[in-house]
Amino acid sequence: MMDSPGDERFDRLTWLAQHLYEADVAFLSFIDEHRQWMKSLSAPLVGTSIDRKLSVCQHIISTGAPLMSPDLKTDPRFTGHPVVPQIPLRFYAGVPLIAAPDLAIGSLCVMRRAPAGADEPFDFSPLEALAAIAVDAVALAQRNEELAAETRIDALTGLANRRGFDDALLRAASDCNRRSEPLSALLIDIDRFKTINDQLGHLAGDMVLRRVGEALAGVALRKGDTVARFGGEEFVMLLPGSDLTGAMEVAARVRGRLIAAGIPRPESAIVTVSIGVAAQPGNAIDGLDLIARADAALYAAKRAGRDRIVGDGIEATTN
Ligand code: GH3
Ligand code: MG
Ligand code: MG
Repeated sequence: MMDSPGDERFDRLTWLAQHLYEADVAFLSFIDEHRQWMKSLSAPLVGTSIDRKLSVCQHIISTGAPLMSPDLKTDPRFTGHPVVPQIPLRFYAGVPLIAAPDLAIGSLCVMRRAPAGADEPFDFSPLEALAAIAVDAVALAQRNEELAAETRIDALTGLANRRGFDDALLRAASDCNRRSEPLSALLIDIDRFKTINDQLGHLAGDMVLRRVGEALAGVALRKGDTVARFGGEEFVMLLPGSDLTGAMEVAARVRGRLIAAGIPRPESAIVTVSIGVAAQPGNAIDGLDLIARADAALYAAKRAGRDRIVGDGIEATTN
């Protein structure tokens, strides 16, 4: 919410607040550790960002309670305040935005140029209702972000799913092209996975998928690497900055890691994979073509007998 563009949802609330309270300005702010940021300002009478310590709103944010001052300039609570003498506004009323008990995330305030009469009644309820709407909008936006992230995660393995991978591929291809760095991909398919399902059951099959996923995640450790479940019992690894030689080494590490993990499969054997590897030099990267090449290499690995690695353009050898 901080330092982000304006948002009509909040502009409507400050517009309403200004009119309901016949104020000269209403603003809705969010805070971080140091700053208070005006997410919506109904009139340009206060700055868009301020050091929290200097803000009049610090009172309501630190106490979590609403505050009304008929005249800031004569209010003893603001005597010696560094900012109050500099602003052309005297009447102030504000409520905190409370996201959770003891968690104020900002404020909603109205201000007038003219001071209010000392005995003038003041009702916080409309301001509090508008603040509650703002807090709900923030919670909803957060939940939407979480859900959008969840749609890119595979529930079984916790890895990126196909949608997450497609995003990562687009990003990596454009990043690597821009930096003139190679991009490589490993397509990893579990050997004779159907037998595991058929003989040990689908739940055991699912457990194998989880454990293979963990093993892969343990190999691709570089920042920028992506490990995803490509579909079914196939995984994909994207290695920005790695050429074919580097990617073949990573593929060998994958196999080593799986041998070390010793994930059991029927007939006292352990789970093995076939891996197709492809790489493209920076400024010639085409993500879809990269994956198609890795897929063709994987197919060659399967055809040559499984449990092996084949690189794009490298002849399949026996293991
Ligand atoms: P190959 O060595 O040629 O790869 O043989 P395979 O048996 O691994 O390959 P195939 O593509 O014929 O079979 C893949 C199987 O994976 C078929 C499908 O039932 C199973 N599968 C796909 N997704 C899941 C899943 O989420 N859980 C489980 N348990 N099985 C799955
Ligand atoms: Mg398979
Ligand atoms: Mg398969």
